Amino acid sequence: MQIEKAVVTSPAAQKIKDVRADPPKRGWNRRRFLQKIAAAGVVPLLTESPAFAEAQHDAGRIKITDIKVQQLIVEKDWGTYTDYVGAHTAILYGGGREGGLGGVQRPVGIEIALWDLIGKAANQPLYKLWGGTRDRIMPYSSMFKLGPSSQRAETALELKSQGWKAIKLKSHYATLKEDVAQLEAVRNACGPDFIITTDGNKAGFSVSFQGTRGVPWSFQRALETAKECERLEVFWLEEPLPRYDFERLAELNRLTTVNLAGGEAQNPGVQEFRWLLEKGCFDVIQPEINTQGVAVLQKVAVIAESMEKLICPHLGDGRLSTVCDMHLVATWPNAPLLECSNEIPEGAYEHSYAVFEEPIKLTKDGYFELPTKPGLGVAIRKDLYKKG
Ligand SMILES: [Mg+2]
Repeated sequence: MQIEKAVVTSPAAQKIKDVRADPPKRGWNRRRFLQKIAAAGVVPLLTESPAFAEAQHDAGRIKITDIKVQQLIVEKDWGTYTDYVGAHTAILYGGGREGGLGGVQRPVGIEIALWDLIGKAANQPLYKLWGGTRDRIMPYSSMFKLGPSSQRAETALELKSQGWKAIKLKSHYATLKEDVAQLEAVRNACGPDFIITTDGNKAGFSVSFQGTRGVPWSFQRALETAKECERLEVFWLEEPLPRYDFERLAELNRLTTVNLAGGEAQNPGVQEFRWLLEKGCFDVIQPEINTQGVAVLQKVAVIAESMEKLICPHLGDGRLSTVCDMHLVATWPNAPLLECSNEIPEGAYEHSYAVFEEPIKLTKDGYFELPTKPGLGVAIRKDLYKKG
């Protein structure tokens, strides 16, 4: 998008414009801003000039003059995870409340782009604009593959050596014994301080899969998994039962002390997340920004906070919308983690963030530092722009 400021015509608006042309260099300094406003003689105009209302209306407005679609070069196709992606048709035919790609679709990309523009106009990174107090957040390495427990433990240990403090493992094995063996191997390898979460993915379309991911859980299997998660000090168990099975989700939650997590891309709108929390289904709510958008996530976060629940947004796109998630997470006091797809080596997060001029990188002590430039604070590399 290309933007330009609206034409400023009145003297009062010009004074405001002059002040805004010399904003604080770093951060927001209210006293300095007010001093500049006073020095510019703007304050008396607040009460003296009827033109101020017009100036106020015009001076801060942004006019979008053009929108261009810019295709990017795909540098390398890393393929798919054969043990995870096995039934596309199941995704396509599952719709709306039954899961899949249906349900409410919102123009989320435009919403995020507009917030990026607002941040740039305000000369503030979004997390500061939204009142965030943290300048770094802790991501967890979200895994997708299955494999022998010993291999998964080796991978987890490698991640820990890179600085990662938290991981999510798929509990997609055919048997409870295999699911537990993986969790136990990772716990033993990485020690008691390493944060482990696990995902059953039983909320929606996965129940129709024919592969390992498609093994549906009975209530008893879900309960036994939860009890093993308690023993192994797993931080949360995600999507142990179908999405709209509110009563059994709530019952399971009453019977276990492990946190239950869920509510992803297919739960449309604020009200469904409120239902899930009010009914006691989940301790950690996980709205997806790509289907819900910034405004819904902000509302869900506040509802969760009011109920002393946690929020951890679902994956995002691994690029711009996940960066937007970072800004949101830094804003919320009840968001301890950020999901980051990172199935090393082929699915390492660096492949996704490589599209940015200044890729976000994990610090040695396991954090992502928030971009400090205005708006989202990231820019797509120009050399990836497709020509013609
Ligand atoms: Mg999940």
